[in-house]
Amino acid sequence: MTPTVPDTMNVAALAQLGPADAAFEAVVRPVPRPGPGEFLVKIAACGVCGHDALARRGELAATVGDVLGHEIAGVVVAAGSGDVADWVGRRVALVQRRPCGQCPDCARGATSQCRRGPGFYGDDLPGGYAEYVLADPLNAVRLPDGVADEVAAVASCGIGTGLHALRKARLEAGDVVVITGAGGGVGFNAVRTAKALGLGVIACTGDDAKVASIVEAGADRVLVRPDVAAVRGCARDLDRPRGVDAVIEVTGGPTFATSLRVLRPEGRLVLVGNTVPADLAIAPGLTIVKELQVIGSAHATRADLQEVIDMIDTKRLDPIRPRRLPMSEASTAHAALDERTATGRTVLVP
Ligand SMILES: [Zn+2]
Ligand SMILES: [Zn+2]
Repeated sequence: MTPTVPDTMNVAALAQLGPADAAFEAVVRPVPRPGPGEFLVKIAACGVCGHDALARRGELAATVGDVLGHEIAGVVVAAGSGDVADWVGRRVALVQRRPCGQCPDCARGATSQCRRGPGFYGDDLPGGYAEYVLADPLNAVRLPDGVADEVAAVASCGIGTGLHALRKARLEAGDVVVITGAGGGVGFNAVRTAKALGLGVIACTGDDAKVASIVEAGADRVLVRPDVAAVRGCARDLDRPRGVDAVIEVTGGPTFATSLRVLRPEGRLVLVGNTVPADLAIAPGLTIVKELQVIGSAHATRADLQEVIDMIDTKRLDPIRPRRLPMSEASTAHAALDERTATGRTVLVP
């Protein structure tokens, strides 16, 4: 039976750009109607992430009145025309960008680079701090019963980002990878994902308080603000005397120079994060002589999200359950994000 879809819904819209206090207000909006090939998702949970904080502060395209949120899971409650009726009633997790499926980027599978589709929730189209969003089969993955809504919500951005970067690094089981920023959400999940893929992991963090939890996540070695010698020492211990196979650079500025210098010849530095924005010095001599590769990595594709969901469902990956807050507390969730008081991630529940 198809549930009845109301005409209007509650959203937490951006009330002002700037501090988290009173940044969001409850507003009533029309429920969007799915067009051909689209379906309507009733949101069960929407993650709150650093990207949203940038948008709230006015550092991205969002303006007052916009609805943020791109980490969405829910259930399909209505379908437009076309071959999508069988999605109704299914629980889904969504990739944060809706691609077009037809442009040259999509044809190569690089859907995170598509700029012809509906776009990125919260940036290009209304986001998930709401009761409903539109989606389609190009950005939706069906959820098995064993994967909870709040985990599914953060699976693409919180976990798939790290998996996408590990794929870009072209690693095989037994390879050794350094992951910087391992105490943060993306880095922490990347440690767990890398272990699930059978990699040796040297995790780096700037926060002594995070060491125990990173060890528990499975890292073979955990280093606090290490220099080149310390990382190279760990690499030797893990049978990589010429350096590590890859670095997943989640931090950016403060760690980049070290990351480049701990790579083996033909090693890959995959740049995911830019948490402390800075111009990065690439060390041309080193890069040329050792034939290093520096690779950017944006966000998960649908294939990455499917793999994350499969890994969780088969218990190869055991993510931390995000805490749940009602959507009316979006400002509270953002304040916690700004102050870094939240351990793990937060999802808003309509
Ligand atoms: Zn996110
Ligand atoms: Zn496309």
